[in-house]
Amino acid sequence: MTAALIGVDLGGTSIRAAVAIGDVTHGEPVHRDTPSQEGPAAVLDAVADCARQAAGDSHIRGLAIGIPGPIDPGAGVVHDAPNMTGWNEVPAAAMLSERVECPVVICHDAAAAGYAELKAGAGRGARHLLFITVSTGIGGALFIDGDLYDGATGSAGEVGHTPISDDGPACGQGHPGCLEGASSGTAIAARARAELSNGTPSSLRSLDPATIDARAIVTAANAGDALALQVFNDAGHALGRAIGGFINVLAPDVIVIGGGLIHAGDLLLKPARLAATEIAFEIPYRRCKIVTAALGTDAGLIGAVAWAVRSFGGVPVGMR
Ligand SMILES: [Zn+2]
Repeated sequence: MTAALIGVDLGGTSIRAAVAIGDVTHGEPVHRDTPSQEGPAAVLDAVADCARQAAGDSHIRGLAIGIPGPIDPGAGVVHDAPNMTGWNEVPAAAMLSERVECPVVICHDAAAAGYAELKAGAGRGARHLLFITVSTGIGGALFIDGDLYDGATGSAGEVGHTPISDDGPACGQGHPGCLEGASSGTAIAARARAELSNGTPSSLRSLDPATIDARAIVTAANAGDALALQVFNDAGHALGRAIGGFINVLAPDVIVIGGGLIHAGDLLLKPARLAATEIAFEIPYRRCKIVTAALGTDAGLIGAVAWAVRSFGGVPVGMR
């Protein structure tokens, strides 16, 4: 019987599992909806089912799973999982290990996606990489000398909660003036709605305010709407100030920007690049490539598979 390594991408809406067939490549994914309201045991039962199905006739030798945090990867504990009920200090690695009868490692979903970009995506070949995911929230992961740096608590890389101003809007965690409060999809939509209620003219007025999200604002900005352009300009400016600071502290080879908001493209990245030059030292800024993620929604699964290989050794002969 062959021995398989499995990667799993666990999200609030779906579970995807696949067998490693190379360091960063996987077999056909098995997926199903996450029973997110049924508690951790039911979710991990579903994960184990997917993993066994992905392994087929092979014995599972090791499994890595990317989970929305905050988590403690060293202890294998999920402190809390957004969009899933009942995840409070859950020993997920041990619970899953019992179910699949093999060693299990957990990693933060942003770390998995960033690792995929480092190994097989927009940051391939980089030595020092900062991954920033801009979506409803802002997360990230830091890779130094080709490997994840997650600090003493497994929580390092939370770039979204970098201070931008004294008095800016609060993020979802209630921090005043942090990056997520200025540049996340949630923040962009909230800013547009606030401007509309102040009477600012905009084509967005024709929409039901409840349906105004970052995607609608991208569409309006691409059609030349002044308010939508201003909102993206300000959000990109805040992101760029943070990026300039990261460049000064870390001098990375590459900053990869992923997440749902990369479809905004230059609406966000042009002001971000400009603002970064206001703060970053010239030499590390010129050295650092700022690029968008290449792997899209596959990054989480590719990263989990690659993390399994990293954690448990190479892909067994016969699985390739
Ligand atoms: Zn914050």
